[in-house]
Amino acid sequence: MPKSFVPSLRVRVVNDVPANEKGDGNFVLYWMTAFRRGTSNFALQRAIEIGQEHNCPVLVFEALRVGYRWANDRLHHFVIQGMADNQAFFAKRGTAYYPYIEKSPGDGSGLLAALAKSAVAVVGDDFPCFFLPAMTRAAARQIKCRFELVDSNGLLPMRAADKVFVRAHYFRRFLHKNLRPHLVDVPDTDPLSRSTCTQAAEVAQHIKKRWPSAEVDKLARDASLLNSLPIDHNVRPSEIKGGVRAAQTLLKQFVRQRLDAYDVDRNHPDSNGSSGFSPYLHFGHLSSHEVFSAVMKADGWQLDDISDKPTGSREGWWNASPFVEAFLDEFITWRELGYNMCWQQADYDRYESLPEWAQKTLHEHERDPREHLYSLEEFEQSQTHDELWNAAQRQLVLEGRIHNYLRMLWGKKILQWTPDARTALRVMIELNNKYALDGRNPNSYSGIFWVLGRYDRAWGPERKIFGKVRYMTSENTARKVRLKQYLKNYG
Ligand SMILES: Cc1cc2nc3c(=O)[nH]c(=O)nc-3n(C[C@H](O)[C@H](O)[C@H](O)COP(=O)(O)OP(=O)(O)OC[C@H]3O[C@@H](n4cnc5c(N)ncnc54)[C@H](O)[C@@H]3O)c2cc1C
Repeated sequence: MPKSFVPSLRVRVVNDVPANEKGDGNFVLYWMTAFRRGTSNFALQRAIEIGQEHNCPVLVFEALRVGYRWANDRLHHFVIQGMADNQAFFAKRGTAYYPYIEKSPGDGSGLLAALAKSAVAVVGDDFPCFFLPAMTRAAARQIKCRFELVDSNGLLPMRAADKVFVRAHYFRRFLHKNLRPHLVDVPDTDPLSRSTCTQAAEVAQHIKKRWPSAEVDKLARDASLLNSLPIDHNVRPSEIKGGVRAAQTLLKQFVRQRLDAYDVDRNHPDSNGSSGFSPYLHFGHLSSHEVFSAVMKADGWQLDDISDKPTGSREGWWNASPFVEAFLDEFITWRELGYNMCWQQADYDRYESLPEWAQKTLHEHERDPREHLYSLEEFEQSQTHDELWNAAQRQLVLEGRIHNYLRMLWGKKILQWTPDARTALRVMIELNNKYALDGRNPNSYSGIFWVLGRYDRAWGPERKIFGKVRYMTSENTARKVRLKQYLKNYG
């Protein structure tokens, strides 16, 4: 195989057979499932590299299934808006792009294998969470040619750490010792500019006939066209627009207008101080390398500014402005901590993956009387006695997001108002993953399990229901953060 410019730590060879030059291979198939963009994408870059070696073009295949859990209008619309952007982007670059949307569950089965038959090699996205790992494992059994998965998730390759970190502090210290060399290995901002192949890949007629490509432009403009699909139509599309173009606009806005107050404004629901990047990062419309580069450039920061001392402390190591350090701690330490867990631990979404101390203390308090108990439906419909909680849940249902600070409170109250912690876990996963645009992500599980004690320590005094797990109240939250306008909007 060619010497790869994509760091080898990011490449996982799933089918280790030589690339198929001699067969009917006429393109490298890039199967885009998680890093849904044409820029700063190690997986696309790897496909182009293999194509260069074998003098053939890349075919970008972006598909959307209907048969996965929580498939709904909101998620479909966001992804399809991204597909429309990608279609325009790849058309401009003369690169073949094949968008496919299933009309009923299972319609798409056989398509990947059919495309792979004409491929020199297949490259896919290595995403560690939700149904994607099982889907790529199943695909490996059907693809006969070389098949590689590439990790373009974060700044630290997932395989750079060989253990799970149980506290953010330990992971931060690991990053201080190990992250720096990886910051030099950045993906090409424009990998297609490397491609020397002049012809475009062709999809065989019989494949296009059986699996017609989707009219993504039309679907992106008119969400009512989703009505014919067997997905949940009660979860309405969000006003947050999906796609690479919306993501790039948001990135510019954030860096220009909000970054310098991030450390102060982030926690106040009225300030809209956080970035809003999480849905775009989740669906891969935005690359973590692009975010990092834009933020550091705005701060006039250089790699040599990094401190030699791996302190493990939240501030100081980057030698950047305090607001940038605050952002990086969320965006790198906390975000990539979740990827680390999902990558290493198959039971990341199971109650038993909680630290022992948390399971023990929650069990000891399982029989504590609950003043309020709500069913999933009551939670879903914002029918609790707590105005602030109801507002947060309304924001989730209407917009597909909850302000970060209130998201913690949202979870803590579900723990307090359900019969036991396992029920709380089920309710949180159901509501978060059904409604949140950024749900079904490693950080969905980090956040939800944090509510129950993951990544945290035992706290005193021991309280009813929570035991030693950290406790939060709406009253304290209302005292600490500005939320008058928030309550007007969602209350
Ligand atoms: C109960 C609960 C559920 C959560 N569910 C999700 C989820 O489904 N998807 C999701 O991406 N995050 C989730 N989080 C983490 C966090 O709330 C969101 O990442 C953050 O609010 C996203 O808003 P933002 O993009 O404006 O963040 P910013 O503050 O602008 O941060 C920038 C980026 O850093 C990352 N980040 C920020 N805070 C955290 C955090 N606490 N943990 C991990 N990564 C973080 C995100 O990728 C985010 O986009 C959850 C937290 C809790 C407590």
